[in-house]
Amino acid sequence: MATATEWLALLGTILVVVAYLPQILHLTGEHCSDGVSLGAWSLWLTADVLILTHAIAMVDVPFLALGSANIGATVLIVVLAWRYRGQKCALHARSPSPVGRGRRGELHRSTSGHRETGT
Ligand SMILES: [Zn+2]
Repeated sequence: MATATEWLALLGTILVVVAYLPQILHLTGEHCSDGVSLGAWSLWLTADVLILTHAIAMVDVPFLALGSANIGATVLIVVLAWRYRGQKCALHARSPSPVGRGRRGELHRSTSGHRETGT
């Protein structure tokens, strides 16, 4: 029987997956990798794998679920961003934003007026 905090952690894991969906849907639907930094996402993937090793060692089910969800979504985004690297949808090609938001909500500002899309 799961504890109340395990159920809350499961809800948090579901919210994490939901939070990845807009990026995944934009990549799959528009084939647009604008604003997706392969370098940053690859670093997050590496960090997620390293953190998951601790969850495996501790047999911590909520963190195993969270780590697995993060890794699955991040691998998908890295693969899709690589596949569609350099491609932009009509909206991003027409009106590039000088300010973009990163995966964790931080602001990125480019001096050229375009989001950074490189590695
Ligand atoms: Zn786009």
